[in-house]
Amino acid sequence: METLIEQQLLERLVALLRSESRHLLSEHGLQPVQFEALHYLSIANRYSDTPMAVTEFLGQTKGTVSQTLKVLEKKGLLKKIADVKDKRVTHLEVSQKGRKLIDQILPSPIIRAASDVMIGDEITEINSSLRTLLYKLQQANNFKSFGQCASCSHNTNKGSGDFLCGLTKEPLTTKDVELICREHELNTSLQANAKAALK
Ligand code: SF4
Repeated sequence: METLIEQQLLERLVALLRSESRHLLSEHGLQPVQFEALHYLSIANRYSDTPMAVTEFLGQTKGTVSQTLKVLEKKGLLKKIADVKDKRVTHLEVSQKGRKLIDQILPSPIIRAASDVMIGDEITEINSSLRTLLYKLQQANNFKSFGQCASCSHNTNKGSGDFLCGLTKEPLTTKDVELICREHELNTSLQANAKAALK
């Protein structure tokens, strides 16, 4: 019986995706990690679109992230916006140009090609296994989950498209609950239901 997740498989997958990404981004003068920051900000909620949250998500130093954000801002891919309540907080908003670039790059051609040759429920099963692997890895190592708001234990569905964040006590919209959050804590009963539905 295998007792460890095969790291070599994961490293090979990451290497293939990174190589493809480097190739696609070269004509835009961007590095994969700069694009990762841009993509993260395009799906992060209002509590998570700050330079500090990007630092946490990428696991990089503040200095490196600051350089990354400068490059993205200079290229017109994102803009800084001061928080309306606390002027010391800066939000990072992805521009139209940035969103257009993301749509152009993702999903990568190698992922599309692989998806085209999958049969039956293979894609659903692979996505489910990858989600489980990510969650277990984060849980076992006390990493932040950066999950989607809809699956957070602090999220209360008030009905009619209204939600409430139990942590901040602020209302959330249908659009908000699709975004990811640095304060996310997985609602494990939702995960169990999703697994049961796949069986
Ligand atoms: S409900 Fe959870 S994921 Fe959603 S905003 Fe609140 S803390 Fe973040």
